[in-house]
Amino acid sequence: MPQAPLPDEMNVYQNAEARFEVAAQKLGLEQGLYRYLKYPKKEITLYIPVGMDNGQLEVFTGYRVLHSTVRGPGKGGIRFAPDVSLDEVRALATWMTWKCGVVNIPFGGAKGGIICDPRKLSKGELERLTRRYTAELADWLGPERDVPAPDIGTGEQVMAWVMDTYSMHVGEATTAVVTGKPIELGGSRGRREATGRGVMICCDKALAKLGIKKEGCRVVIQGFGNVGSLAAQLMQAAGYKIIGLADVGGGLYNERGFDVPKVIDWVYTQKKPLPEFPGGGTKMSARDVLFQPCEIAIPAAIENQITEQNAHQVQARILCEGANGPTTWQADAIVDSKGIFTVPDILGNAGGVTVSYFEWVQDRQGFFWRESEVNDRLLDVMESAFDGVVRYAEAHKVNNRIAAYMLAIDRVASALKLRGIYA
Ligand code: NAD
Repeated sequence: MPQAPLPDEMNVYQNAEARFEVAAQKLGLEQGLYRYLKYPKKEITLYIPVGMDNGQLEVFTGYRVLHSTVRGPGKGGIRFAPDVSLDEVRALATWMTWKCGVVNIPFGGAKGGIICDPRKLSKGELERLTRRYTAELADWLGPERDVPAPDIGTGEQVMAWVMDTYSMHVGEATTAVVTGKPIELGGSRGRREATGRGVMICCDKALAKLGIKKEGCRVVIQGFGNVGSLAAQLMQAAGYKIIGLADVGGGLYNERGFDVPKVIDWVYTQKKPLPEFPGGGTKMSARDVLFQPCEIAIPAAIENQITEQNAHQVQARILCEGANGPTTWQADAIVDSKGIFTVPDILGNAGGVTVSYFEWVQDRQGFFWRESEVNDRLLDVMESAFDGVVRYAEAHKVNNRIAAYMLAIDRVASALKLRGIYA
């Protein structure tokens, strides 16, 4: 197997590849399977014309990468952000394949993105952008082909537009083409909280493993969107003490602990900046929040937050990754050498895709479950995935991240061997 050069630290695709290389090597993956799994199945670049509110025509660049359909349809979010790139979408698509493998659900991996700043677009502009992107991809998407979901900068409304546009193209209401939809449109109960809930389940398991008490356990969270704010809310309600919060506007640290529902109200109802939350606390950069003394640090915002330059500053006992790719390949070794227990992203944030899977199942059945049923099934899947990864790490004497990759690659490679190559 050829040795890949060391990754450029901030290139997420190279970071994903570096972990794949190590895991494939340790697994002794056959050359042919290695080549097959290393590259995506398909990459699409789109130039999307949109009539803007001021009468001008703008053209946006968008991507959809299908990494694997070996174990089922492609699955993965759509990201709207100014710094989206093909390499980033490719990395995220690859991670989706491994994530679905780790939690053992019958999906492959995919991801999409559009280079735009959704905060600067009107609702009408966002809708036209989403619809044209979906229309251009109509032949590639589908409940049995590729099923998008929300990611940074997209949410339930964008998913509703995707569902409607696709349905108009195929001439029938197709709820299962996308997940993370509003409940009224075939969304699943519990999907909105699912990623944050999955993060909490992993933290509960990690505490039990390390013999740390939950009551008063100090947690810092970077990112206050879908994943971060809901993880904070659920964890506080469960007895954790949330002492650090951050979003794109900066961070706030308060060792007495935050009243999370009040912070949610401040940020989401009153639309005020998180670092200005009244009631005290020390303002700091969004990144520094991750380096405060605590038991658990949860990066739940964007990539490349814990790097070779700053990894030595992490003081947490547990690093539970809610975001995709928050820790660089170079930082892994430093985090390991400090004895920090890591829950890698492809396990830590897999609660979202797990409940997306439940949503897809419910849409195809046309039969919807109670929220408690969704949450119970999520708990089952996450606990057994966590146990599987930790057992694998101990048995093979690798860290949790490489164990998660090995477990997932092995599952996809076994399925591929059974299917064989169509020629
Ligand atoms: P979101 O758009 O709802 O929230 C993102 C949050 O990150 C916001 O609070 C934003 O202010 C903050 N942020 C952005 N840039 C920042 C920066 N430079 N420093 C600090 N904070 C910053 O997105 P989300 O859905 O919560 O996704 C967050 C992460 O979790 C992403 O990596 C995403 O890929 C991953 N993820 C999301 C889901 C899901 O179900 N939403 C599932 C799996 C993984």
